[in-house]
Amino acid sequence: MSSLRTHDDTWDIATSVGTTAVMVAAARAAETEAENPLIRDPYARMLVDGTGAGVWNFMLDRDFVAKAAEIDAEAAAIFTHMGSYQAVRTKFFDEFFLAAVGDGNSAPAADAGVRQIVILASGLDSRAYRLDWPAGTTVFEIDQPKVLEYKATVLAEHGVAPSAQRREVAVDLRHDWPKALIQAGFQVNEPTAWLAEGLLMYLPADAQDRLFAQITELSAAGSRIAVETAPIQAQERRAEMKARFDAIREKFGMDDGLDVAELMYNDPDRADVAAWLADHGWDSAAVKSADEMRRLGRWALPSGPDTPGDNAFSYFVTAVRQ
Ligand code: SAM
Repeated sequence: MSSLRTHDDTWDIATSVGTTAVMVAAARAAETEAENPLIRDPYARMLVDGTGAGVWNFMLDRDFVAKAAEIDAEAAAIFTHMGSYQAVRTKFFDEFFLAAVGDGNSAPAADAGVRQIVILASGLDSRAYRLDWPAGTTVFEIDQPKVLEYKATVLAEHGVAPSAQRREVAVDLRHDWPKALIQAGFQVNEPTAWLAEGLLMYLPADAQDRLFAQITELSAAGSRIAVETAPIQAQERRAEMKARFDAIREKFGMDDGLDVAELMYNDPDRADVAAWLADHGWDSAAVKSADEMRRLGRWALPSGPDTPGDNAFSYFVTAVRQ
């Protein structure tokens, strides 16, 4: 159970769960600026820069990993691994959307033709601006009001326009978000492609179940969903890694007082997403993120008896509504 969270907490881009949106955007910015990037997010850097100082400045420092490795080589490798993980997940979900809207190059659903997109907890995700959406596509973005406002303002200030019809739905996903979504113009009878990326770990298990029940109710036949599951980590491993990262943070003066793991609900009783969807009218499939990372040559964890098994990492689940 998270010690920093309450059932009705709120935040902006600089506080609490809002800062996690900056961290993942920083990882996308770092990947975009790396040699041979797996993904390109040309807006990530400007979105991160607008938020001021924070631990993400280290993520964008190309020399940081080499310097951290002098203190703790394994912790530095984990840092690299976490950055690569963000790139791999971004690529996976980019391809999910391109397949859903019928991009002829994307397997396996080249003829899906969905034109209604919902990005849950969109944070600083710039897909509504950077993906090549077919004409007539509407992208609904749901997140806390101040997070959405920050993104739209920064991108507008840089003259960046959405590449689809973009609609903001400023609401907490623990509240009556279906009502807000419909008020924003969502069409219940049209198939939808949904994304829950970087979200489930910030919801308690019962809120996760409610979320998928609400999504299912709003999903016409042919709808699709892609989900990053919340990884369940052993308590001892979390504590050990925290101690090691704290040593690096202290050394580099990185202490911004925020412990991201404390914002998450590490809930061992959480429903298995692929099984839940299969039980509720979806054809679902799950890919181990560990396998995706290896496939793309991005697995950077040192192997050894203490390395957690693949199941300690997230799964990427996709499903189609029957
Ligand atoms: N999906 C985005 C991405 O991958 O770039 C953002 C991921 S970020 C790690 C987590 C996001 O979830 C934040 O933008 C946060 O505001 C949002 N979030 C978490 N819990 C939420 C809730 N209950 N209601 C609305 N947004 C929420």
